[in-house]
Amino acid sequence: MAIRMHDVRNAVESSELMKPPERITLTPGKRVLFLTKDPDLIRKQLAGEIDLRMEDLRVEDLLDDINTDAMTPAWVCFDYKPEDIARNAYAGLIVNGERLFPPDALRNGNFEVIVSGYRKGVGSSRETATQCELYSGIRIAVAASFAPIHAGNNINQGLLMADHEMLVRLQRGEGVPLRELYEKHDPITRLIIQSGGLFPFSRALARGEVKLPVPHNKPRPMTMGEKILARHMRGVSENERYVKPGDAVVVDVDGGYTHEFTTAQVHYFLEQEYGPDYEIANPQKFAVFEDHLIYADDVARMRPFMDKIDVLRGMQRAFQQHTNCRDFSATDNISPGICHEVAREYIVDPGDFIQATDSHTCMGGVNNALAWGVGTTEYANLVHAGFTTVEVSESIRFELTGVLRPNVTAKDVMLYILLRYAKPQLTLDRIMEFTGPGVRSLSLDERATLANMATECSARTAIVEADEKTFEWIAAMRGAAGSQPGGHEENGGLRGRRSTYMERAVAPDPDAQYAGGVHTIDLSTIEPMVAHPGDPDHGIPSDPTNGALVADIGEVKIDIAYAGSCTAGKIDDFLFYHQVAKEAVDAGLRVAEGVRFYVQFGSYAVEKFARENGLVDTFERAGAVVLNPGCGACIGCGPGVSEAGEQVTVSAINRNYKGRSGPGKLWLASPLTVAASAFTGTITAYTPGMFERARSRAESTRVRG
Ligand code: SF4
Repeated sequence: MAIRMHDVRNAVESSELMKPPERITLTPGKRVLFLTKDPDLIRKQLAGEIDLRMEDLRVEDLLDDINTDAMTPAWVCFDYKPEDIARNAYAGLIVNGERLFPPDALRNGNFEVIVSGYRKGVGSSRETATQCELYSGIRIAVAASFAPIHAGNNINQGLLMADHEMLVRLQRGEGVPLRELYEKHDPITRLIIQSGGLFPFSRALARGEVKLPVPHNKPRPMTMGEKILARHMRGVSENERYVKPGDAVVVDVDGGYTHEFTTAQVHYFLEQEYGPDYEIANPQKFAVFEDHLIYADDVARMRPFMDKIDVLRGMQRAFQQHTNCRDFSATDNISPGICHEVAREYIVDPGDFIQATDSHTCMGGVNNALAWGVGTTEYANLVHAGFTTVEVSESIRFELTGVLRPNVTAKDVMLYILLRYAKPQLTLDRIMEFTGPGVRSLSLDERATLANMATECSARTAIVEADEKTFEWIAAMRGAAGSQPGGHEENGGLRGRRSTYMERAVAPDPDAQYAGGVHTIDLSTIEPMVAHPGDPDHGIPSDPTNGALVADIGEVKIDIAYAGSCTAGKIDDFLFYHQVAKEAVDAGLRVAEGVRFYVQFGSYAVEKFARENGLVDTFERAGAVVLNPGCGACIGCGPGVSEAGEQVTVSAINRNYKGRSGPGKLWLASPLTVAASAFTGTITAYTPGMFERARSRAESTRVRG
């Protein structure tokens, strides 16, 4: 039986029709869309002027690293119904200032297959990226590789994934057995694909129609990630708690969260699937945050969407009241902080397994937990059940040695890893483990940067080996929990008990196997780095893997310096910004003329520290704009965004995808580089004493003159 797509809506709504046939063929009359590096070819395909064949193309002709911001930019996600989202599929693919995909272009093109190059779906975990294709009639996404969270979203939504060789056979009319599309996956994922998605699979499970396989492994040395999954496994005896890569396991979830960008869909999907009286399994383990859109009305481009944003906020409140989950809503229109920062401060414990609807959930790995982002379908399913299914990923280990130079930070280390290890796909879908004396030389906030940017590496997640500093930091933060807005006290039991954190922590076994290898990085060799904005109009994506040494980029004038986000809004980041700003102010400088310098706290706790220790006073004397806690400009929804294509931003955030933080060009850099650049007006690596030396030179020139 061939795939039939006469009625997309019915196909999506009916679980029977969602079940894919055992042999996949192309539907006569339906089309294949190739996302080529040449935008004119895309335009012609959308206009119905040409149809291409894979046999006539090379994989190198196709777009790589298509990010989910390009598929569904933030403003598209202000709609929560998938069919509305699909109307603006690929709205973020901008060429020469114009949308390559006008409204409804994908839906009206009569396509059932969409084709691209490497690493499809990098970036944000937003499931809307899958929905925009599925609800436009796409049934098969073809790529050389997929980012892991996006691949998971495709599987959960019932969107099939194939490779270019299969497409050649499909276009020749040969057909491809469904088995070829699922056989590389673990046994549970195979069942989900065969069922047509996660909800149909869960229904079949509830009816007893499918039986979950359970691995029965003998004792084996394990990585940190494997140990946490083994500990959370259901259905095995205590002496069978061993897993290996490729195993499919059913695991308990210790906690998770959503934010106002994603909660509405979770609520909507739960109501659709389980009715208006649905319940979730452990409400006090899960939380909602108001952090992403809280300052959107400060951005002119976002004002037309305020009605939709209010709907999202209202639906999050409804979900919180309906489920009685933990509430980190804004107070007096001020966010308690970015979900990932607040989660590591108050929610994530060593040894935990955490799932949340945001790709930077991996930041929880700094607390020696296993945490990663999932789409709204998967989250809805797991909060309802209290458990989830997982394929055990391979791991890659970074053994850090040495000590960072005084003008280098963990952000530079990650920009280096992105260039050296992520670009050639060594980190793809793997768990990145950070160990070694170099890790122990870093503060917890710096280690959090390592964990945070695992998602930019297209990794499954990251986890950092724990030490005394880890336990002390968590205990200290939990001790301050009563001062959190809304009075969020510790969750009782384990919280605050340092010895329990130590017991729950995991370390890799000496003979643990790392399919991605063990890589030693001497921190003292790392130099200040940037990631450049690429040239998306000519097929060079703006991507965090575009690493370069600051010393090699020449003079790059800037208009905006942004200091904040989950990656760089922590206390130590603020100490970095302050170190530079204080030196500049002491040397008689203010923020460079024509440059706007924004500093935005990652959380209420960071703000409290910065205010109580005089940091804010220095920023204000320097002429910086100090912003309330939250995501803001990082997602294009707050002060600090660019407003015109020719503007240049140097930013401490984690992503430089085109259009994400306004239409300008965005360079990624470390907190020290961002702050130094704010005062020089060009992208500049910080060196201690640089402003004082410049002043002395100017002084002696003046005296000599
Ligand atoms: S700060 Fe940016 S990357 Fe981090 S959670 Fe918010 S929007 Fe996402």
